Amino acid sequence: MTENTSFIPCYDFSPSVNAAYLKEIIPLMVRHNVGANPINYAIWYDYVAGNNAKLTELVNSMISEQKAFDSETSIELYKKHVCNASLESFEKINDQIQKVIAQATSSINDTCHKAEETNDSFQKKTLVLENISEATDIKTVLQEIIQETKSLAETSHLMQTKLNDANKEMQQLRLELAQVRQAAVTDGLTGLLNRRAFDQTLAEIIDGSESHMTCLSMLDIDHFKRVNDTYGHTVGDNVIKYVAALMKKHAEDHHHVARYGGEELAIIMPNTTKEKAIEISEIIRSSMESSRLKRKDNSQPLNTITLSIGIAQLQAGDDAESFIVRADTALYKAKETGRNKVVHDHSN
Ligand code: GH3
Ligand code: MG
Ligand code: MG
Repeated sequence: MTENTSFIPCYDFSPSVNAAYLKEIIPLMVRHNVGANPINYAIWYDYVAGNNAKLTELVNSMISEQKAFDSETSIELYKKHVCNASLESFEKINDQIQKVIAQATSSINDTCHKAEETNDSFQKKTLVLENISEATDIKTVLQEIIQETKSLAETSHLMQTKLNDANKEMQQLRLELAQVRQAAVTDGLTGLLNRRAFDQTLAEIIDGSESHMTCLSMLDIDHFKRVNDTYGHTVGDNVIKYVAALMKKHAEDHHHVARYGGEELAIIMPNTTKEKAIEISEIIRSSMESSRLKRKDNSQPLNTITLSIGIAQLQAGDDAESFIVRADTALYKAKETGRNKVVHDHSN
């Protein structure tokens, strides 16, 4: 990787979500005396969106310790926790893999070199043995051969140990790589697929052979601003987590449940009829309506929170955008006609 490789963070582009964030970000930046520049905005955007747990933790501890958000600290936070958090992990693992491979290669080369030397020496000694008659001389040559054989065996043994170590290290690195890969596609709050993974999965399904009978269910929590205003952001976060768990529970194993952005969640349902998509969405909607949620901190019951869901079925000629627009239009209809309902796109 070159030094100027950049990694574009994944953002939610929904205007309503961003307008709501803006209203929270600016007062926060003013309150904490943070300079109005794009880097700071990106940091406080992530803070308000709540998708970047490590950054939130660091910013919270800076606030409680009343530390200043000077430009050096901000750039450090941005570089480490907004811009290329996952890129750095990838690079670190890549460097380690290169190191392990270089060490293993050098050990194999050493052993090959030693084997070639021993082979040359044995050939010379064969000639010597063919031309000598004295038993004492033969004994000396044989002792040398035994010594060289032992030395070669030691080198091979050393190589084996090094290759075993390299193998163990590679297994560990493979695990770390899988964890970084997993983190790169996972939403920090809900554990669902993040927006990047949603976009990628949808594009792959549309381009692939399994696109027939794919449905998309888009879900938005009703009056969620009220939830935040009444109970606070933390309770709001827990409600999003609860809805995510409900979706995960009722979606089928081959479905892809994602956080599309903010309090909008989605299920990509390949190989699923429209009737089945409606049935699953309806179960999620009614389960939420009948849930009796309580605050974690004081066990006080929350008012009933409901969901609106829009469903579209993939049509020939659809791309990701047109497919999402139809699901979103159905969701909008659900909102417009009273919320707490599942609406499917009638044009299918
Ligand atoms: P509607 O029924 O029309 O959907 O009303 P709404 O209040 O839900 O409206 P809207 O979708 O515009 O607002 C969503 C709000 O969700 C705005 C934003 O502050 C909040 N929000 C977005 N992401 C998060 C999050 O991660 N955590 C919390 N607590 N709130 C979030
Ligand atoms: Mg919304
Ligand atoms: Mg909403």
